[in-house]
Amino acid sequence: MIINVDKLRGKEIDKINLNFCEEIDTISYCDEKYKLASPIEVTGKITRNGKELYINSDVKMTVVDRCSRCLEEVEIPLDFNIQGFIVQENNYTEDEYEEFDAFIVEDYENVDLLEIIAQNLEFNMPHKVLCGEDCKGLCPGCGANLNKEDCRCSEKINDEDNIDPRFAKLKELLKNE
Ligand SMILES: [Zn+2]
Ligand SMILES: [Zn+2]
Repeated sequence: MIINVDKLRGKEIDKINLNFCEEIDTISYCDEKYKLASPIEVTGKITRNGKELYINSDVKMTVVDRCSRCLEEVEIPLDFNIQGFIVQENNYTEDEYEEFDAFIVEDYENVDLLEIIAQNLEFNMPHKVLCGEDCKGLCPGCGANLNKEDCRCSEKINDEDNIDPRFAKLKELLKNE
């Protein structure tokens, strides 16, 4: 997702239209790598705004995360807008940009859109991921996924009903002794 912005910066052109759909496997954000279940769709433009470049674009994609209760994979469709200055690390000062969004990029000539999209994930990912509102989660005792299977905790308890018949007999013998 590399966009060469040389001509825009050199004032040869006034804007770069973004209109594409790209298949990407993963996106990294906050030290985590997320799988993508759909291509990333980008529609918008990059323009010049003062001495900096400005991006205004819609992004659509489906990220895969895990349910916070049962840890099953969940597909999260995201659809958000990104707006802000594209600023090189060395040129970034907090005073200048505090009122605006600023996306800090490493390479200022070949802008990596994926880097900018990743910086926006923070505000657009759900705070709590659930596979469903009624997810029953995992049993803290046996780890069974209670949406799919029964809790096995009772099997561990040595009660008469669950005991192996052979041991039951043995137990019976011991009791009589
Ligand atoms: Zn769940
Ligand atoms: Zn259990």
